Amino acid sequence: MKNIVLFGPPGAGKGTQATLLKEKYNLIHISTGDVFRFNIKNETELGLLAKKYMDEGDLVPDEVTINMLKAEVEKNADANGFIFDGFPRTESQAEALDVFLTEKEAQINGMVALEVPEDLLVERLLERGKTSGRTDDTDEGKIRNRFNEYNTKTAILKDYYQAQGNYYGVNGVGSIEEITNRLAEVFDKL
Ligand code: AMP
Repeated sequence: MKNIVLFGPPGAGKGTQATLLKEKYNLIHISTGDVFRFNIKNETELGLLAKKYMDEGDLVPDEVTINMLKAEVEKNADANGFIFDGFPRTESQAEALDVFLTEKEAQINGMVALEVPEDLLVERLLERGKTSGRTDDTDEGKIRNRFNEYNTKTAILKDYYQAQGNYYGVNGVGSIEEITNRLAEVFDKL
């Protein structure tokens, strides 16, 4: 089983790259943001809860997010492996994921991080907001809050995976194809 955390700040290109890499490596792509948006669209209880946080660019509470992630993994019991996109985003989520995978006699093979400077990210997000229909992409204040959440709660996960010898940084500036190729070089080794 190959389980990869595709990591990076908002707008780094995780979703775009995961969609391409899941085909190449026959992995299941789980984007917690996409699962939340699906629930919001379908007006589920989970969606109503998540919406309050997402609209502000705040993180959804850990317990809710972890339970949802576990349910998504369980739905794909026969999978060859997973690309986790947008999860984990806090140290508690990372610890919960390790415990959960260990119970399944599996593990995270690597955190592969897209490294992109912040000014380029804001530009990309505002551009995406024109067509994505995502309200959290159109308001610069909300975008800034998402970066604040990332910098205060999520960025430290680099240390968490580095301590396990599992962190791989990849330059996330370039064409989609160039970046896919850089990521694939790392995926091939994991
Ligand atoms: P994303 O699509 O990954 O940019 O996520 C959009 C929003 O969904 C985030 O700003 C959070 O509000 C919420 N979200 C997605 N994944 C998580 C997570 N792992 N933990 C907490 N909140 C999350």
